[in-house]
Amino acid sequence: MLCAMSPSGIYAPFVPRLCPDRTPFTPDGIPFVPGSGPCSATILFGQAIFIHHCYMDETSIRVSVFFSVLLIMAVAETVAPRRSLSIGRARWSANLSIVIMDVLIVRLLLPGGAIAAALWADTHGLGLFNWLTWLNSVEIIAAVILLDLVIYGQHVLFHAVPLLWRLHMVHHADRDIDVTTGLRFHPIEIILSMLIKMIVVVLLGAPALAVFIFEIVLNGMAMFNHSNVRLPKNLDYLLRLLIITPDVHRVHHSVIKAETNSNFGFYLSIWDRLFSTYRAQPKLGHTDMTIGLEHLQSAPTYKLGFMLRLPFSGEIGQYPMFKSQEGRHE
Ligand SMILES: [Zn+2]
Repeated sequence: MLCAMSPSGIYAPFVPRLCPDRTPFTPDGIPFVPGSGPCSATILFGQAIFIHHCYMDETSIRVSVFFSVLLIMAVAETVAPRRSLSIGRARWSANLSIVIMDVLIVRLLLPGGAIAAALWADTHGLGLFNWLTWLNSVEIIAAVILLDLVIYGQHVLFHAVPLLWRLHMVHHADRDIDVTTGLRFHPIEIILSMLIKMIVVVLLGAPALAVFIFEIVLNGMAMFNHSNVRLPKNLDYLLRLLIITPDVHRVHHSVIKAETNSNFGFYLSIWDRLFSTYRAQPKLGHTDMTIGLEHLQSAPTYKLGFMLRLPFSGEIGQYPMFKSQEGRHE
C-alpha cells in the first residue's frame, strides 16, 4: 500500500498497521485511502518518516531490522565466537563509519533507490512482471529469488573485472570477518550496485513490496553470514542447504585465491551449487585460515582513509579472475 508524499516527489511505500479498532488512519487522523493525497511527514535522510502509531514506514522498518540484526549478531559472536580475531573491534569505527557514509550518499544521489524504480516501472507498465498476470504473492516470491540471482551475478562480476575488483577489494581487505564486515563497502561500489539493481528492477517490473522485502533480507543476511558466530554443526548443515551460513561465507574471505573466488551467494545457497562455485570448507579450517587479502596483511586496512583511497592507490593482488587483462597496465 502506497502513499503519495514527500516534498521531493518520491513515493515511499509503508506498511499499514491497523489501529485497535482495525481502521487504518493517516498521521492526520483521517481514515486512510491509498493514493488519496499527501500525508504529514518529517524528513530524515531525504525520506519521509510517518509519525503515527498506526503505521510503520519503510525507513523505520529498515532501521529497526538493521539495528536488531546488528545487535543480535554482535551479542551472538561475543557469546559463541567461531575464531579469535586478530584486530577485533578496533575495526568497528571505520566499518560502521563507511556504512553511514554509504547510506547518506545513496540517499542523496539516488533517493528512493530501487523501490522508486519499481514504482516508476509499475506506473509506466514496464518490465516482465507488469506484463504477466500471475498472483501477486507468486510474483513477489519469484522477484525476490530473481533479484538474489542478480546479486550473485553482480558479485561474480566484481571479482572478475579488475576495475570493479578495485572497489570490492575494500570489502575483502578486512583482516577479520565479523558482523561489521558485512556492512563495509566502498561508496562507489554501493552506488554502482544500486544503479544495477534499479535497472534490473525495471527490466523485471519487480513489485515494490518484493524489492522492499529483498533489500531488508539481503541487509540482514549480509550481517548474519559475515558474523563470527559458531553455529551448532547440525544447524549449519541444515541451514546451508537453503541459505548462506557464516561458515559458508567465511570461505569467501580467505586469502587463498581459489577460496576468495568461491561462495559468492549472499542469501540463497542454490546459485553457488548451480554454477559450481560452492566450496564447503576452507582448506586450512575455520580457525587456522587467514582472512583478508594476501598483499594487504600488514596494511592499515582498519582505517577509514585507507579504505576510501584503496581503489585508487592499492595493488589489486592476484585475485581478479580476469587479471591478465589489467596486469599489462599494472
Ligand atoms: Zn566478494
